[in-house]
Amino acid sequence: MVVAVFDPEDGARQDKREGLFGGVRRAMQFLSNENLFVWLAGLKRDYEVYVPLKKGPFRFYERYTAPSPDIVIGEVRATEPLKGFFTPVKEKVAELFNPEPLRKKQKPMAIVGVKACDLKGFLVQDQVFCKGCQDPFYNRAREDNLIISADCTQAIDSCFCLALDVNPYPESHFDINLSEVTGGFIVEVGSPKGQQVFDSHKTLFQEVDTMHVNERKEGRKQVVAEVERNIAKHGVPHQNEYQGMIERNYESKIWEDEAKTCTECGACTTICPTCHCFALVDQKEGAEFVRYRQWDSCMLKDYARVAGGGNPRPQLWMRLRNRFEKKFDFFPQVAGLNACTGCGRCITACPANIDIRRVLKRLVHNE
Ligand code: SF4
Ligand code: SF4
Repeated sequence: MVVAVFDPEDGARQDKREGLFGGVRRAMQFLSNENLFVWLAGLKRDYEVYVPLKKGPFRFYERYTAPSPDIVIGEVRATEPLKGFFTPVKEKVAELFNPEPLRKKQKPMAIVGVKACDLKGFLVQDQVFCKGCQDPFYNRAREDNLIISADCTQAIDSCFCLALDVNPYPESHFDINLSEVTGGFIVEVGSPKGQQVFDSHKTLFQEVDTMHVNERKEGRKQVVAEVERNIAKHGVPHQNEYQGMIERNYESKIWEDEAKTCTECGACTTICPTCHCFALVDQKEGAEFVRYRQWDSCMLKDYARVAGGGNPRPQLWMRLRNRFEKKFDFFPQVAGLNACTGCGRCITACPANIDIRRVLKRLVHNE
């Protein structure tokens, strides 16, 4: 959809693709590369700070300890999804028969370099854990933590965020955003919490100059063009075309055809920033009974199995269909957004080459 909005860079009215988060104009400041590390050291007093670190061609989150040339604020999304910060793979949620949830005392986290696709991932998780089941652990973690997002400064082949109306640069739902430019970052504040943090480190920031503003504008345009090229190359349909595609293809051979090579490993759901299914597991530990919440995957055969052994989705292709139905039919119906960010993680993680872009294309075009 094309709408007229205020360009955040220069306030000029222009036509642009409407991103999921819309265009909002904010005051900008400049943070030099040297001051970034002074700032991170300052944040460490109040937060456990996590930053993306480059390892070969990939980026992984690690706790920040000291300045390192391997810290990459820009570039592209991390390999792992960020949902693990708020719902760990396995977490003890109750012990004995105490109805009160366990209250763990821990420092809040500051997660740095979060990309726009992962901000959408948080929105989907919020729907489930804040508005849906009101998970006290998740809610508290989301309230306490600081999200310092960053523009993508490149795209990789699997990125197709624009098909889901996510621009490759954050526009809202962050506390502070960093856009990498020569010598440092353009900084924007996006929430009262972000403003507080910004104010308490004010002396590190300076006025931003036009050269940097123009550089950011140009950089954003280039990354958008890279993602658009990916989308064109793989023929990924835009989300405006998704309505009704699951219903139309419910009995289609597409599902069996695509599931032929599936190994039922669950990598696609594990690595997905929006997938959120979990199981509650009770077990005895010493003399006590404890309850864990642990990630589950709808691609696994036992996921929907009930007492007596009955299973509504005994075939792999049914589970694949269910995964798409959940993301592109059920979730938009109940929450008003597709449960996909276009991050492409499931494409690179799948050992069976089951590519979500190809499945979407087949579904939209009834192939
Ligand atoms: S379904 Fe795939 S592309 Fe979409 S959010 Fe999940 S991992 Fe990313
Ligand atoms: S990652 Fe690929 S092979 Fe593994 S469960 Fe998902 S679709 Fe099947």
